[in-house]
Amino acid sequence: MTGARPLIIAWLLLLTAALTIGGLAIHLLRIQDQNLAVAATESQRQRLATAAESIGLAVIEARDTLSESLLALPADNLIDTLETWRLDNPLVRNVFVWQSGSGLLFPDPQKPTRDEEQAFVQRYFELFAGRADWSTPPPDEPTASGQVQARRELRDLAKSVAAEVASAPAMPAATGWLPWFWGDGLHLLVWADQPGGKRCGLEIEMAALLARLVTALPEPYEAHETLALLDDQGQAVHQRGAADLSNRQAMTMAVPIGSALPHWQLALYNDAEARPATQGVLLLGGLLTLVLVVAILLGGSLLLWQARRSLRDARRKTGFVANVSHELKTPLTTIRMYSEMLEEQTDIEPERRMRYLGIIGSESRRLTRLVNNLLDFSRLEQGRKQYHLQPVDLNALLERTLAGQSVPLAAHDMTLQLALPQPAIHCHTDGDAVEQVLLNLVDNAIKYAQEGKELAVTLTAEAEGVAVHVDDRGPGVPAGHTSKIFDMFHRVDASLTSHKPGTGLGLSIARQLLLDLGGDLTFQPRPGGGSRFTIRLPLSKGAGDIR
Ligand code: ADP
Repeated sequence: MTGARPLIIAWLLLLTAALTIGGLAIHLLRIQDQNLAVAATESQRQRLATAAESIGLAVIEARDTLSESLLALPADNLIDTLETWRLDNPLVRNVFVWQSGSGLLFPDPQKPTRDEEQAFVQRYFELFAGRADWSTPPPDEPTASGQVQARRELRDLAKSVAAEVASAPAMPAATGWLPWFWGDGLHLLVWADQPGGKRCGLEIEMAALLARLVTALPEPYEAHETLALLDDQGQAVHQRGAADLSNRQAMTMAVPIGSALPHWQLALYNDAEARPATQGVLLLGGLLTLVLVVAILLGGSLLLWQARRSLRDARRKTGFVANVSHELKTPLTTIRMYSEMLEEQTDIEPERRMRYLGIIGSESRRLTRLVNNLLDFSRLEQGRKQYHLQPVDLNALLERTLAGQSVPLAAHDMTLQLALPQPAIHCHTDGDAVEQVLLNLVDNAIKYAQEGKELAVTLTAEAEGVAVHVDDRGPGVPAGHTSKIFDMFHRVDASLTSHKPGTGLGLSIARQLLLDLGGDLTFQPRPGGGSRFTIRLPLSKGAGDIR
């Protein structure tokens, strides 16, 4: 674990850095989000103010046009002309002629001819009786809205040009207008003074004015916004958008229209369900940060996993070298010992000499097997292993190979039961490779299962080829290792102090050889205790199939 410690520290540092970056990023996003919200509100207010001014200007334009028309009225036939107006112009609701000191000259306050006329006289009673002020409210302060300001200036300029061209009036006439609140709301009165001290005027038809105003109401910018024109009672006279105006909480802001329509407002409503766009930015930023942190964590884990793997492989290789050295040393020591004895004891009896020679022979064969395994390992690793396919009498191969193992088997008191079918089975394969597989299995049985005292080798024909079972009565392979024992360097007892020396290569090489020959090597626990390794081979394998 010591080798992985720097990596864990590096990984923790990365994690800390990632979390700090993530935290800072979210903090910055929050600040940015607040700034955006403030900017968005300000821009909405600007838009609303411009729209409100534009509506106000539309009213002023209508009003000014009417007062200009009033100024131009002929002094004679005044009442008839006014009445014609009232009937023809939808913007005119009522008309009047008034004189300071005399009061209302038309309509006759004592004898109103229509209900509407009576209501009109009643509505403005205070004014016509001289008890209210006729003075026009001062114009609004110019605002920052360039668009409306420009429109206003253009209008004033055009008027001044018109005034210069037109012949000057005999005496300067005064005009004005008056917002009048009465019962059901706001009413607008426009008047102009006539020569002779008469003041003629008209009351604007609010419904007709409104019908023109709504065209000045802009479309809302966002789908979830609604614009509404509210009268002096706070009632919506017109709306653009689908918001439910009865929900007061949905109102985001309202700006006054100005002196043109006193106490009227233009209001902006926001659908409560709609998510402001800035929240989306925050969500996206949070997601990106999360992705960054997860990526760093995954990368760190991957590095750690890779480091542990490398560490395990390095340990296995160290163990492998130690094991190989040990494996080579043991038979070499035995061979040297027995050859020295033969050298020194010249008068040695013949049976003992034969036994010594037998031991030397079997130990040197063990050495050969080990060296063959190592050679095969490197050839298989590099993909250079070559096979020589030829017809092989499997009965003879098994008999010959196992006869060669009689000495080590006998040395460990192990009996061999060899069951061969008749007639003999022939197979097109590489005899040397099959022999090496068999020797590895017998070697393992002697090494790991000698207490069982039994080795049974059975050759049988199967539907798709042949099977050689190599059975022992040893301890078997623990459940968690049954497939791993075929992995390179894998040993059930992998400790360097294991009292059974080995390289962990034998089974993996044996299996690879058989796979190359079109067969396989498998393990099963043997019923009644012990292991069963099964070699499977096809009856014939074309040379072209060998990799
Ligand atoms: P080695 O014998 O050099 O360790 P192998 O690849 O031949 O390598 O075997 C892998 C492991 O399988 C051995 O370490 C051993 O634990 C287990 N094994 C192999 N054959 C037997 C057997 N006949 N009985 C019990 N365990 C076995």
